[in-house]
Amino acid sequence: MYDPFVHAHPGIGAPHSSSYWVDTAGAAPEDDGPLSGAIDVEVAIIGAGYTGLSCALNLAREHGIRAVVLEANQVAWGCSGRNGSFARISGGRVALSELISRYGATTAKAYFDEMSAGLNTVRGLIREGGIECDAQPDGVFKVASHAKHIDGLKREVGLYNDVLDYGAKFVPGADIQGVHTGAESFGALYMPDGFSMQPLKLAWGLHRMARKAGATVHVGSPVLNWTRSNGVHRLETPGGVVTARQVVVATNGYTSAALNKATAGRVLPVHSQIIVTRALTADEKQQSLPGSECMFDTRNLLSYYRRLPDDRILFGGRSAITGKDAENPQHRQNLHDALCRKFPVLSGIQVDYNWGGWVAVSENSLPFICRVPGEQNVFAAGGYAGSGVSFSVQAGKRLAQMVGGEAQPTQVDFLHQVPKRFPFQPFLRVGQRMAYAWYRYKDAQ
Ligand SMILES: Cc1cc2nc3c(=O)[nH]c(=O)nc-3n(C[C@H](O)[C@H](O)[C@H](O)COP(=O)(O)OP(=O)(O)OC[C@H]3O[C@@H](n4cnc5c(N)ncnc54)[C@H](O)[C@@H]3O)c2cc1C
Repeated sequence: MYDPFVHAHPGIGAPHSSSYWVDTAGAAPEDDGPLSGAIDVEVAIIGAGYTGLSCALNLAREHGIRAVVLEANQVAWGCSGRNGSFARISGGRVALSELISRYGATTAKAYFDEMSAGLNTVRGLIREGGIECDAQPDGVFKVASHAKHIDGLKREVGLYNDVLDYGAKFVPGADIQGVHTGAESFGALYMPDGFSMQPLKLAWGLHRMARKAGATVHVGSPVLNWTRSNGVHRLETPGGVVTARQVVVATNGYTSAALNKATAGRVLPVHSQIIVTRALTADEKQQSLPGSECMFDTRNLLSYYRRLPDDRILFGGRSAITGKDAENPQHRQNLHDALCRKFPVLSGIQVDYNWGGWVAVSENSLPFICRVPGEQNVFAAGGYAGSGVSFSVQAGKRLAQMVGGEAQPTQVDFLHQVPKRFPFQPFLRVGQRMAYAWYRYKDAQ
């Protein structure tokens, strides 16, 4: 499997890796094929996931710039076609209490408002583009996987209510049984906003909208070499060359060090994996997930899950550290064990699908939407830490504003700072391995 730490680029026109999403998305929309020959544009975007597609759409619609998008493999080949499908008020992986203590209540609120705006941006695009992506009704539960987590959830609800003026609720264990039952249903934090959908259909919908607005999307066109001369960027792909005055890097967890020295080492690619079971019987459904809301738990190495419209369960969590180890059947087994621990009625249930992808974690565990220092007119966004379905779409919109000339399109300063490089790069994965072992130990207590 492609490993951004090891390989120079994600491939050349590789097909989507097999998944439930690929099998249920229907036919892929038309694209512009691989780049061939030389073209000159104002803006080139690298990566055709939600970030790149949203940026291309907004550049065309709001700024009159018809960008060219270069994608190594297929549209949404990265996270955008592989994720757990939760569009939530989310971005990064910093606890609310930590966010408030780091940046203060005013900035925390401004960031929360930006994340909420991101969710509304996605809702708006689905509506406006008539994107048929099987969107489910709203509702997100953070479920206590242990009784001792309840007090923490109650405190978090208090912060949402008092500091962010948001209507989160605590749901006691007895009351959650209608949507979530089984062995780990001790209570939950409930957020009324947030929904799930078919993520590949969402990406393809954005792709259609971007092309209709005037963007060009070349698949099978990895950027293999990037040089700059006299303020003009030259991006070489296997079939052709793009020269551009401005470049947007929208490669997130799939960014290799070889792409550009200025962006190298600024995100840690972390593998997340998903299994999808066979469809549940009515009885199994009643004893596990009667509800179809978005669910995740309170573990350090958390699980995220939902019941799909055809009554299968999608269940995801952290898995391999390296690309080489990603296909190891043990990771699939670990997810299966975690699912059955939570819902004993599903013990031994057949798994029909299993896939994974690279999420991107930045040094401060928060997203960034920034101008890249040391480069001329290069912009980048990413670092969503497995919580980027809605925020990446919002980040693409903000990137378009920056390319269009706005220095800082939000009030949240930290979002617009380039992420620090991780220190001790060669040892990052050793540290990650140790952190996982510690979290596993803590989660088992
Ligand atoms: C298993 C999994 C579950 C997840 N679940 C959720 C969830 O439930 N909710 C949530 O909010 N978030 C979730 N996420 C995260 C979310 O999917 C991402 O934050 C979001 O899709 C990022 O979009 P993106 O466009 O920035 O990056 P991506 O969609 O990853 O796109 C990057 C693209 O860049 C391309 N690329 C890289 N290098 C080059 C190059 N040299 N030349 C050309 N192209 C290149 C890649 O091929 C790739 O297609 C999950 C992610 C995974 C992997």
